[in-house]
Amino acid sequence: MNSGIDDILKKSIQCIKGVAEKRSKLFHKLGIFSVYDLITFFPRGYEDRSKLKKISQMVNGEECTFEGIVMSKVSEKRIRKGLTLYQVFIKDDTGTVIATWFNQPFVKKLFYVGERYIFYGKVTGKYKYFEVSNPVYEKVENGEFKNTMRILPVYSSTAGLSQNTIRAVMENALELVDGALDDFLPYWIRKEYRLCDINYAFSNIHFPRSEEDLNYARYRLVFEELFILQLGLLSIKTALGDGKEGICFGTHEKELAHFISGLGFELTNAQKRVWKEIEIDMESNRVMNRLVQGDVGSGKTVIAALALLKAVKSGYQGIMMVPTEILAKQHFETLCALMEKSGVTLSLLVGSQTAKQKKEILSRIEAGEVDIVIGTHALLEDNVKFYRLGLVITDEQHRFGVRQRAVLSGKGENPDVLVMTATPIPRTLALILYGDLDISIIDELPSGRKPIKTYVVDNSMRERVNKFIRKNVSEGRQVYIVCPLVEESDAIEAKSALELAEKIAKEDFKDLRVGLVHGKMSSSEKDKVMQSFADGEIDILVSTTVIEVGINVPNATVMVIENAERFGLAQLHQLRGRVGRGGYQSYCILYNESKSKIAIERMKVMENSTDGFVISEKDLEIRGPGEFFGTRQHGLPELKIANLYRDMDIIKKAQKAAAEILRRDRLLCEEENIKLKEKIVEKFKEKLKDISLN
Ligand code: ADP
Ligand code: MG
Repeated sequence: MNSGIDDILKKSIQCIKGVAEKRSKLFHKLGIFSVYDLITFFPRGYEDRSKLKKISQMVNGEECTFEGIVMSKVSEKRIRKGLTLYQVFIKDDTGTVIATWFNQPFVKKLFYVGERYIFYGKVTGKYKYFEVSNPVYEKVENGEFKNTMRILPVYSSTAGLSQNTIRAVMENALELVDGALDDFLPYWIRKEYRLCDINYAFSNIHFPRSEEDLNYARYRLVFEELFILQLGLLSIKTALGDGKEGICFGTHEKELAHFISGLGFELTNAQKRVWKEIEIDMESNRVMNRLVQGDVGSGKTVIAALALLKAVKSGYQGIMMVPTEILAKQHFETLCALMEKSGVTLSLLVGSQTAKQKKEILSRIEAGEVDIVIGTHALLEDNVKFYRLGLVITDEQHRFGVRQRAVLSGKGENPDVLVMTATPIPRTLALILYGDLDISIIDELPSGRKPIKTYVVDNSMRERVNKFIRKNVSEGRQVYIVCPLVEESDAIEAKSALELAEKIAKEDFKDLRVGLVHGKMSSSEKDKVMQSFADGEIDILVSTTVIEVGINVPNATVMVIENAERFGLAQLHQLRGRVGRGGYQSYCILYNESKSKIAIERMKVMENSTDGFVISEKDLEIRGPGEFFGTRQHGLPELKIANLYRDMDIIKKAQKAAAEILRRDRLLCEEENIKLKEKIVEKFKEKLKDISLN
């Protein structure tokens, strides 16, 4: 019985009544191949045709359902070639309306004077009578309705597939599976969280019997989706060593206090709090898997240094992995300076080193002569072996996957893991997107920073902006100009940045030193240009977004962003964070050519706030979560029904439920949880590729 329904769900949609080859191709365009794909193709909205109105209650411009008696024969009026109107008067006990159809001669044969119908359509009211154009109609017979008197689903569609076709096919599909869908949620979860039965949920999400039924159905399906998401993430956490016996690092109070007192500044309260959280993790015998989130400039590097120092003082080695070579070099230099007096040996490991250099470094790492290694992806290679690896830090988490973290961890025996990111995400969302990690947030910038001044301009200001750029360069400062991704294609992106750079170099600033970086260049080419910018050999750096995870150039004070409206706010914020890193007043100039209200509102947010969390929250509010916080980019399964912004309450319940079920059955291997576990493995197969779930 059960395997029966699983087989049906896997079958091609061609097994559904009403879907032959040609139509199935249209469904493929919507990403629908199997019966399961179809029934989980949830409506994007609904048309409520269930509430009957009297003609006297009609409102101009609104859609409504009403019942009436046909009062006249259908009249035919040829307006011009190709446009003929068919009209009929309809009456109830409160008034009269005109129903109008365009070019549908068959309606003449349908309606007879004195007969009673239900209609549904949009009301307009220019003349004496309200008029309903192209209404849907159904005869009042045995009380069964198909197109009226109910709430009907509205699907995202594609040319050639009408709503009516999708609805009909969906009904057939639901008939095929109705009553047979297996509820993989354990009974006690359904009971405790008041979740409706799965068959009821599927039938009512597509064809709700009432608004209330729709709400029950939606609640169950959203809960289920978020519950699985949460459980998947928590299982990954377990697989990565959460709860596993880890290293108990020592306190080393004296050494660490000494290090902190040598910094030349006091830690912010947020840094102190986050450091405390990390220390507790490191001293406990649980493996640490912690995310440190902090806006650009919030001081994450010092925290990393503290953790590394603690590990080294306890007799272990530490790694810090970053996404680009130039960042690796910068971090290496920063950490060398910070640890100068701590008696710690640091090494750099990057792809561009010669084989001979690498060989020497690798043997020193393996022999335990190096305490801390800073590097790029080069660290992931098999030949990088450690003497006693205790701590793994990755910076800029969104560039690395769970898998890479796991590879690094595998180089030690359950080392602690710290992930650093500057991507500001509201905490509630972070809990989902990084559900496989514990989270610490540095939500405070060191005091005394000069906030970056941001101005939104349009092309008419170009002269003035160019003058401003010149002024800054003549004072010895440097400037970034960023061009957006015009299309998905890298080629076009590179071209537009290139064209602009050429224009800037040959026309606007022909007397200045202009450099260019874009995604099409090899990383060594990129690094070279970045390095000469950092060394002050370039005045204006024109680039695509590759500088987002960039380098620290305190002398750069102006960030100009072309077509700023094409960027996400969080991305603009990251880009802006490239300036304002030294003692100079810094500026961000956003070119916006869009007149749309949303674009203007988004630009205002940038002008008015420098807080990454506020900005990302606003962005979410204005744009909705699907677009920017795509779960896809975090390597998570696609959400088909839940909305991470709107369904916050359900997220919290699902998180609670996930924690509860794991407390009862940590590995989900009890009989009642088997189906659920299968579902999770299925949904997370991408993310779980190289990690085995226990
Ligand atoms: P990010 O979080 O972007 O990685 P960094 O760690 O690079 O930030 O810190 C940015 C700058 O702020 C560095 O020059 C660092 O030395 C400095 N800094 C860090 N913490 C403090 C603090 N508590 N007070 C003053 N300056 C600090
Ligand atoms: Mg940093």
